[in-house]
Amino acid sequence: MTLGQKQRKFTLMIAKLIEFAYENGYELTFGDAYRDPRVHGDVGVKKSYSSANSLHKQRLAVDFNLFKDGKFLTSTEDHLPLGEFWESMGGSWGGRFNDGNHYSLAHGGRK
Ligand SMILES: [Zn+2]
Repeated sequence: MTLGQKQRKFTLMIAKLIEFAYENGYELTFGDAYRDPRVHGDVGVKKSYSSANSLHKQRLAVDFNLFKDGKFLTSTEDHLPLGEFWESMGGSWGGRFNDGNHYSLAHGGRK
C-alpha cells in the first residue's frame, strides 16, 4: 500500500470513528490533524512542539477532543470505547502509550 493509499484509507476510517462516537452519545471536535511540515519540520526534523517523526506530518493521525452531555472529557480512560473501536478497524490508539486522544494508522513502525 502506498502512502497515498494509506492516507485515504485513514480518512475513511476517521469518518467511521466519528460516526461511531456520535452513535454512542459522544461529540467530537478536531484537535491536531495534519501538521504541516513547513511549520513543524519534515519527518525526522524537530521544529515545533510536534515530535520529529509524528504521523500527523504524514496525514495519518488525528487528535480528537471528546465530549459527552456537553462535558469535555480529557482522560485516556474516557477515550477507551472509541480507542477499542479504532483498534477493531486496524488503527493504533494513543491510549496504549499515554496519548488517549490520538488516533493513527501505523506507518514505518511509527504510531
Ligand atoms: Zn496526536
